[in-house]
Amino acid sequence: MSGAGPRDAHAPERCDLAVVGGGIIGLAVARALARRNPLASVCVLEREHQVATHQTGHNSGVIHAGVYYTPGSLKARLCVEGAREMYEYCEQHEIPSERCGKVIIATDRAELARLEELERRGRANGVPGLRRIDAAGIEELEPHARGIAGLHSPNTGIADFQAVARSYARDVLDTGGSVATGCEVLRVAVQGRSLRLTHAHGTTTAGHAVFCAGAWADRLAVAAGASPDPRIVPFRGAYLRLVPERRPLVRALIYPVPDPSLPFLGVHLTRHIDGDVLIGPTALIAGARDAYRLATVRRRDLLDTLEWPGTWRMLRRWWSTGLAELSRAALLSAFVRTAARYVPELQVADVRPAFAGVRAQALGRDGRLLDDFAFSHTERALHVRNAPSPAATSSLAIARHVADEAQRAFDLER
Ligand SMILES: Cc1cc2nc3c(=O)[nH]c(=O)nc-3n(C[C@H](O)[C@H](O)[C@H](O)COP(=O)(O)OP(=O)(O)OC[C@H]3O[C@@H](n4cnc5c(N)ncnc54)[C@H](O)[C@@H]3O)c2cc1C
Repeated sequence: MSGAGPRDAHAPERCDLAVVGGGIIGLAVARALARRNPLASVCVLEREHQVATHQTGHNSGVIHAGVYYTPGSLKARLCVEGAREMYEYCEQHEIPSERCGKVIIATDRAELARLEELERRGRANGVPGLRRIDAAGIEELEPHARGIAGLHSPNTGIADFQAVARSYARDVLDTGGSVATGCEVLRVAVQGRSLRLTHAHGTTTAGHAVFCAGAWADRLAVAAGASPDPRIVPFRGAYLRLVPERRPLVRALIYPVPDPSLPFLGVHLTRHIDGDVLIGPTALIAGARDAYRLATVRRRDLLDTLEWPGTWRMLRRWWSTGLAELSRAALLSAFVRTAARYVPELQVADVRPAFAGVRAQALGRDGRLLDDFAFSHTERALHVRNAPSPAATSSLAIARHVADEAQRAFDLER
């Protein structure tokens, strides 16, 4: 296998355990299943010609420490465990990662209560090294940033999640599994004591399957007989990039105090493992589940979003936030102004457009944006229904959680 990951291997006609989706979650799950069940044949079916093409290849690249999440939630537990495992995995596999730390900055007094709540959550979640800092503490860590108070999380860091996912794919191959790319699963049917997966290469008859299809998770779940609730609504997140001579404006990771009722963390400034400094992402409902360009609109995706009652309930609640997002997406000056709240020297001339990612965000019929990771069952199958940030960080811990569930639900021998 090349360093770029497996390419267009053919899907097997039969396997014991199929994993649909070759993003960081599907590959981590396949790896966990293959390691736990050495006698079982495991195959990954991925629709694109390379693994890790969608969310896994278009994100902030941050190893989150677990500060934000509601204590007791899956996100809280799996992120703290997953971050520790991610650093270890990167070290063992010589994948560049860095524990560079981050500051969360409050710029006005109205944010102080939320900052305090973040600190409480972080401590309850067992985030290592979390520390409250004042204005001078912020400047000491990030000389170009300004704020009235902050939280420093030294255990937050950065990694290349696409490289991690490719390495998981190699682990699957090394344990005797297979990874078929260019292999979109189109239909799912229970057939006696197996599942028949119809895909671009023909069919694979699997004993059981785990579906980890990111932005397409709801469609495959419904095809397998699950409830259509929650639906995936794509949120496009565009990034800017600092021009090289202005990169010194940011030493590591600078984040705002987020609105706790939204699952997004707000526009942040992040140094990447390759030295690039990114600003973003925005969070705008997209016209397609792969809307890497703003103009990309797919009829089916758009209708799925517009016909879902939850979309309108959500918009009724969040219309003013939506308008602010729209202005950031449309006006470079508005986008830069958002980040300049924390780094006042930042100007429009300092940035260039970078890439965009598309978040697969589950939205309930009642208009609730699902905050926690979510899973469901159908006959002979498990489905990952919501795996937004920090799922890349948490991938090894999510895989353990799913593999435990598969062991029980599929009655696999250990
Ligand atoms: C803008 C942005 C910033 C983020 N920042 C961070 C961060 O800093 N830290 C962090 O931890 N997380 C972050 N995340 C979240 C993280 O990227 C995702 O949670 C994670 O990548 C989800 O992985 P996945 O495997 O579920 O999804 P994906 O990577 O999207 O993979 C799903 C795969 O399923 C495949 N698939 C879909 N349908 C089919 C089908 N019918 N047949 C076969 N295959 C199919 C797709 O082609 C795709 O490869 C961010 C996400 C975004 C979008």
